[in-house]
Amino acid sequence: VLQAPGGGEEAAWLARAPRPPAPGQCCGGGCRPCVHDSYAAALARWRRARPAGNADNYLLLFLQSNNSELNPDSFTAFSLSSVEQLTEDTYQYRFELPGNSSLRLSLGQHIVLRGEVNGLEIQRAYTPISPGNAEGYFDVLIKCYEAGLMSQYIKTWKKGDMVFWRGPFGGFPYQPNKVRAWTRLPQTLPAPAAAAASAPSSLHLD
Ligand SMILES: Cc1cc2nc3c(=O)[nH]c(=O)nc-3n(C[C@H](O)[C@H](O)[C@H](O)COP(=O)(O)OP(=O)(O)OC[C@H]3O[C@@H](n4cnc5c(N)ncnc54)[C@H](O)[C@@H]3O)c2cc1C
Repeated sequence: VLQAPGGGEEAAWLARAPRPPAPGQCCGGGCRPCVHDSYAAALARWRRARPAGNADNYLLLFLQSNNSELNPDSFTAFSLSSVEQLTEDTYQYRFELPGNSSLRLSLGQHIVLRGEVNGLEIQRAYTPISPGNAEGYFDVLIKCYEAGLMSQYIKTWKKGDMVFWRGPFGGFPYQPNKVRAWTRLPQTLPAPAAAAASAPSSLHLD
């Protein structure tokens, strides 16, 4: 049973209230759910867990925030297993996945990293470069900027560090047979007409 020292269950519950995202926490990548959605979900879970004589609510709240797999709603810690410097400012980082699991990312999907610099919590998006079905690990390739906030945090990483990620987000889902026909262009066109014809509107999509 989780209890605040001398404060009882109610005080322990209040101490676990989720904090609203700071302005720097949004990575700007259009994530679904974004940090604000995750905050709203955490707030709802926290409200539901208010003790009503049943301490099991605390355990439920605790378990919900301790996922061992990557998920879009909450951050999961992954162990950094190797660091390889590829250029002056670019590094490849490998993270361990529990068991022999894989991230199962599809084309163009990214994941979001949480970091803290000078007491400010920040989040940035990165696109793993390992195959989506790679088992037991995933790789990210990161260019570190001299004045970049997350870059400063990333440059402190060393093998064995625990790093927090959530996702996946975005991507380009492939749906077969969505293109019905391609416009066939005449062999010769005046220059302005050729430019207009090569614009995306010359595609016929469903
Ligand atoms: C969907 C998506 C996927 C991405 N995938 C990758 C990836 O796989 N790998 C990767 O390396 N990046 C990726 N990025 C970019 C990444 O999310 C970050 O934007 C990048 O790492 C820089 O973050 P930062 O916090 O270090 O820099 P920030 O602090 O956000 O700064 C951004 C830029 O501004 C400059 N800057 C900051 N402060 C100052 C200042 N005071 N004066 C002058 N200049 C300043 C920095 O040098 C830097 O060039 C991705 C972005 C998106 C949206």
